[in-house]
Amino acid sequence: MNILFAAAECSPFAKVGGLGDVVGSLPKALLELGVDARIILPRYKTIDANLGKVVGKISVEFGGQTIPVTVRQTTLPNSKVVLYLLDEHKIFGHAAVYERTDAAPGSASEVEKFLFFDQCVAEFCRQKIWVADLLHAHDWHTALIPLLMKIHKSPIPCLLTIHNLAMQGVVDSQTIKTAADEALEQDSVKADLSKTKKINLLRQGLIHASAVSTVSPTYALEILTEEYGEGLQADLKKLPRVSGILNGIDQTVWNQTSDPFIAKHYDSFSGDLKLQNKLLLQRQLGLTESLQTPLVGVVSRLTGQKGFDLLEPIASELEILDFQMIILGVGEPKIEEYFAGLQQKYPERFIFQKKFDERLAHQIYAASDIFLMPSRFEPCGLGQMIAMRYGSLPLVRATGGLKDSVVNLRDDGSNADTATGFGFNDYNPQQLLEQLRRALALYRQNPATWQQLVHNAMSADCSWTNSAKQYSDLYRQILESSA
Ligand code: ADP
Repeated sequence: MNILFAAAECSPFAKVGGLGDVVGSLPKALLELGVDARIILPRYKTIDANLGKVVGKISVEFGGQTIPVTVRQTTLPNSKVVLYLLDEHKIFGHAAVYERTDAAPGSASEVEKFLFFDQCVAEFCRQKIWVADLLHAHDWHTALIPLLMKIHKSPIPCLLTIHNLAMQGVVDSQTIKTAADEALEQDSVKADLSKTKKINLLRQGLIHASAVSTVSPTYALEILTEEYGEGLQADLKKLPRVSGILNGIDQTVWNQTSDPFIAKHYDSFSGDLKLQNKLLLQRQLGLTESLQTPLVGVVSRLTGQKGFDLLEPIASELEILDFQMIILGVGEPKIEEYFAGLQQKYPERFIFQKKFDERLAHQIYAASDIFLMPSRFEPCGLGQMIAMRYGSLPLVRATGGLKDSVVNLRDDGSNADTATGFGFNDYNPQQLLEQLRRALALYRQNPATWQQLVHNAMSADCSWTNSAKQYSDLYRQILESSA
């Protein structure tokens, strides 16, 4: 089976959040199952212009001009997975992945960039530079591809995976005219325009894809409701099915026994070595050096989705609890300001690093005892899985993929042999506070149970093995039903 992944991100070449991790790792797991999964990606400014070899040339209409694009072929590091880079300077090559650090859709010209990408992908398929059996599109950036493939009368079916329903790419007709003119003639686009004067790219994807999936079983159900449906619940309900397949993590990249970014390698039986990482990071960032003080880590895009506004109402309680916290992230200014303020007030307890830093991210996973993800909604979430692998117990709001991947320690502790972290249900600051207090107390008062949870978390299966199999089954079903 030949599967072409079209996406805006692919780790390690272009990563802003979990989308990059997934696109950079799922194809590797599929290849192990005998599925030839390849990736197509714009060559952004941050990617070496001479990477790989030229395997084709295409041209695409954009803003009334014909734009030539060179297709280069390389592979993902340490793997045989093929990556096609679309090399073009004016639209792709002068900018990073996204305009906004929180990854939300930016200006019209950014949307045009991704529409241009969609056209390039459809043209790549039409010219058979590589013959895919199925196209796997990811998120709004690639959601127009199913419609473009129909316009091209392509027989290739498309699976659209929603990694984050909150980002939809809503544009006006001028943007479509510039970057994907032919789409304006289509009934579904005309219908969108007549109703709202805008075109919702993700909605177009839902209408025209052969099948739709999302990244956890719980989120697949949640998005059918008004609370999580982001206005698209009615469109989603009309589909025969929205599959929910939980993401995995690349266990060669996220491996605490060989991670080149961390000082001390360890496993679940060498907790003292994990503690060395904690001490080193405390020293490096200027926190009080203390093995006994629980260290809470955050590595996250700083957006409303991630739930950090739950911290403000409990600020006075947080200030008197004895723990340290390291926050690594960029995003909305008001969240950045909140964390900067905490650091200013308590520099020996709260450290805020406002940047994207892969190395520091690995160090925080390795050094922290607790990993905080109080998300308002979370399609899957990878931070909690990485944290588990590194023996940092996730404290999460039980929603979406967080609910599917973290086993909450029950109040009576009766599931200590299987629990992997702490969870709360309602989007409520007091519930977060309660769980934090519980976690801190357990850390201090019951090291044996803590170690048991760390062991459970580190042994949890967060690999791609099961999920890659589910994707391969889904591809097969789509191919059978479209034959
Ligand atoms: P989302 O996709 O919503 O951003 P996920 O939890 O699925 O959230 O994935 C986030 C990924 O991005 C993880 O690999 C995390 O380590 C990484 N990440 C997020 N922010 C940063 C940052 N500031 N520096 C380095 N890595 C980051």
